[in-house]
Amino acid sequence: MSAARSDQLPESPAEIAIAGRSNVGKSSLINALANRRQLAEVSKTPGRTRLLNLFELDPGGRGSADRPKPTVVDLPGYGYANVPANVKATWGPMIEHYLLEREELQMILVLVDGEVGPTKLDTAMLEWVDHHGLPYRVIATKHDKVKPSARDKRRRDLAAKCGLEQPDVLWVSAAKGVNIDTLRARIHAWLTPG
Ligand code: GDP
Repeated sequence: MSAARSDQLPESPAEIAIAGRSNVGKSSLINALANRRQLAEVSKTPGRTRLLNLFELDPGGRGSADRPKPTVVDLPGYGYANVPANVKATWGPMIEHYLLEREELQMILVLVDGEVGPTKLDTAMLEWVDHHGLPYRVIATKHDKVKPSARDKRRRDLAAKCGLEQPDVLWVSAAKGVNIDTLRARIHAWLTPG
């Protein structure tokens, strides 16, 4: 489902949010995690890009059908090219409000394009979540696009630019399935607190 404002989101026992600038590979990653081809495609439809798109995880088990399910929120991509200024101006405050006020939020995944490294928008986002003491992890996308011979250096550089140690950044490739199982397992763990 989609919500235009965070107060329209359904009840959830635990939630993670996925953030990143447009074209970082967010939809591809969500589809890879869900094993679906076009699950996240809805967020690309013009006019819907400013919405929060929500995915429910079905933990299964007895009685689970009646209980609120853990959720993954696909935040609007920042820096979307073809969006009018007045729409853009509402994004920041909406995302900020959601990230600061959503009590169920366990983790924010900040995606960074592994091929191009962190942009100014990415580092601004990281500084903001860090400043507010919010729980976050950096996920570097498009691992397959970095030449094997360049990977060691890129890993070092990307982590340093994000102000992190190398092991703190998880590299994934939606195209080649690199670390998708690892990330899926971590998401399940974050969504099953305690
Ligand atoms: P979004 O705007 O963040 O949702 O980005 P998309 O998922 O639409 O991806 C943007 C572009 O990067 C598309 O052309 C994708 O095919 C490409 N892309 C995304 N993930 C990968 C990846 O893991 N490897 C490669 N080679 N390309 C990718």
